[in-house]
Amino acid sequence: MKKPTSQQNALKFVCDLIGHRYEVSKNVTSHVKEYTCKCCNHQLTTDSKGNLTALTPKYREINRILERVYNSRRMRLKEKSFTSSIYELRNIA
Ligand SMILES: [Zn+2]
Repeated sequence: MKKPTSQQNALKFVCDLIGHRYEVSKNVTSHVKEYTCKCCNHQLTTDSKGNLTALTPKYREINRILERVYNSRRMRLKEKSFTSSIYELRNIA
């Protein structure tokens, strides 16, 4: 099982030649995504300016926090609309 590293290097070489083939590996928020190269597993993410940048451990951490904030905000919005619809029902009744 010592082959993967040299194989990865060979794949990386192909990517250097013809370019990475990225696909979305994770939706962090509606406009921040993580991309992984199908070929060599190189990862990219969207930075705060909307540009693509290498997914470093620091960015990965930022994304995890963003994801948590984004999801909890979405959850709260859902709760809010749920409560207001109950309130409307009460008004009718
Ligand atoms: Zn690649």
